[in-house]
Amino acid sequence: MDLRIGSTPPSESERRAIDAVLGPPASGWEGGERAAADGRMSVAGQVARARRHLLLPALQAAQSSAGWVSPGALNHICRRLTVPPAEAWGVATFYALLSVEPRAAVVAHLCDDLACRLRGAEELCRGMERALGPEGGKSGGSGPAWFRSPCLGLCDRAPAALVTRAGDRPREQAITGATPEGVSAALDGRGSEGSTARLPQFGEPGLRLLRRVGRVDPTSLDDYRAQGGYAALRQAISLGPAGVLREVTDSKLVGRGGAAFPTGRKWEAVARNPARPHHLVCNADESEPGTFKDRVLMEADPFAIIEAMTVAAYATGCARGWIYVRGEYALAVERLAGAIAAARVRGLLGDTVMGQPLAFDIEIRRGAGAYICGEETALFNSIEGFRGEPRNKPPFPVDVGLFGKPTLVNNVETLVNVLEIVRDGGPRYAAAGTAGSTGTKLYCVSGCAARPGLYEMPFGVTLRQLIDRAGGVRDGRSLQAVLLGGAAGTFLTPAEIDVTLSFEGTRAIGASLGSGVVLLLDDRVDLWDQVLRIASFFRDESCGQCVPCRVGTVRQEEALQRIRAGRTIGSRADEVLLVADLAQVMRDASICGLGQTASAAVQSALEKGLIGGDRATPGAAGPRP
Ligand code: SF4
Repeated sequence: MDLRIGSTPPSESERRAIDAVLGPPASGWEGGERAAADGRMSVAGQVARARRHLLLPALQAAQSSAGWVSPGALNHICRRLTVPPAEAWGVATFYALLSVEPRAAVVAHLCDDLACRLRGAEELCRGMERALGPEGGKSGGSGPAWFRSPCLGLCDRAPAALVTRAGDRPREQAITGATPEGVSAALDGRGSEGSTARLPQFGEPGLRLLRRVGRVDPTSLDDYRAQGGYAALRQAISLGPAGVLREVTDSKLVGRGGAAFPTGRKWEAVARNPARPHHLVCNADESEPGTFKDRVLMEADPFAIIEAMTVAAYATGCARGWIYVRGEYALAVERLAGAIAAARVRGLLGDTVMGQPLAFDIEIRRGAGAYICGEETALFNSIEGFRGEPRNKPPFPVDVGLFGKPTLVNNVETLVNVLEIVRDGGPRYAAAGTAGSTGTKLYCVSGCAARPGLYEMPFGVTLRQLIDRAGGVRDGRSLQAVLLGGAAGTFLTPAEIDVTLSFEGTRAIGASLGSGVVLLLDDRVDLWDQVLRIASFFRDESCGQCVPCRVGTVRQEEALQRIRAGRTIGSRADEVLLVADLAQVMRDASICGLGQTASAAVQSALEKGLIGGDRATPGAAGPRP
């Protein structure tokens, strides 16, 4: 790929789609003409380059228009944003949902990740292969194509698929309980979007985070207000920023994204920082396999997220908010965009929020298929228009974050907790849960559960109680293992399910709650199949920036495959030792959490003898429901 912009023009529809994102050119000079005399960029060029953060949305527009990022579309984007094509190419090729090679306009993305494997994902892939030919489409074919996909966040209704249709009116359709016939119908433009939320606790008293889910019309601000919406923002304004910070600190809320950092400390650090402006980022790039809680909140209660962000912005002095939503969550994006538009019209976002001297507005950014962008600094790079590679820390985001400014990053579930904290007071919130883990937690129960779905439980219940609440193991089978916390989590044996679900309780047994994944695995499941899928997931998703992770994830998968196949180099014990060594190096020397946790689940399965060969049933990818 060249540094100079080529001469191939975009098609008319590509140009329209890209210009709809970038706006019409301000002048014929836009695109970075250089002043011949001194080699510096013209003013128009500087303005264009300052809009580099629109690179990913522009690439996504090109992809949605033609089904791929064609050379003509890339040239047009690069000219308008003054980005060298080689750099834009580097960004485009970073994301799985973008293609720089011709690709079918209609594509089915079939989830073959952990939960879907237990519900017939491999059969679904084979069915689509029979219908459409090999993955990626027949060579030279013009019809629809299918691809395997990592987790689509629809685990409670597995197997799942996502059908994307490029063109002047691009469309995305999530399919749950997917069958080859259902996916084929969607590829033909038939069928409707499957229901995306399973709420086993619907109507249950005592729910906090889920209390409006399923009850409120997610498209109606009036309905949200009628159900108590915006009471928290009113209360926040009466408390003042310092009062809000005090309540959040007193609540002892910790982040729900996996790291469990005290939210009050983070907010205070941003509020104190004299540099301006401050940014607020809602991390909605929920990509941990087995996780779907934030999707449900965004789809079913989007105004709560907007209100919580406004409260956070008020307390920490953030002028601008961003919601980074994973690219596969089309309905969530639609609901959030509708909520933001309605809030602007009613003066709840904009220059004077609620008539106060508070200016705050929110912009949505969609990911494009990269797990690593859930890492906060990778997310910043993605928003700024660069490859989504993590940055070294320090400096931490509260000092140097998005666009180099102090940035508050919270995930969706963390933010929604803030509403209750501000409304009812931090000490009252802290009364629920345990001493070290206050409030309630969302759990994404899937796999072999009798009643999979999203559950809200106070911290302090045991895993056994949660499993019982989800109806136990389906078909009366016995439990073989539980994957707690997702692909970066830990396998637990049946003997460990009396663990208390709290940050300190799971830590005590060497596990973590992670993003709240509870994947049940019954006695028929081939655990080797699950472990190898985890290994291949991390191999695929490593951004490749640092050696321990880039090489370690590959070597880990290779060693596991040799162990499983009985083709070890040396003894089996030697290979197990090699995997342990790799785990140690990745943990100690990787830049970010992906590399540091890529071996966690694998190691737990090996150490607990879950994949010792005597428990596995090679060849079985799991029964259909
Ligand atoms: Fe990239 Fe892995 Fe290094 Fe993280 S640990 S920066 S994902 S290579």
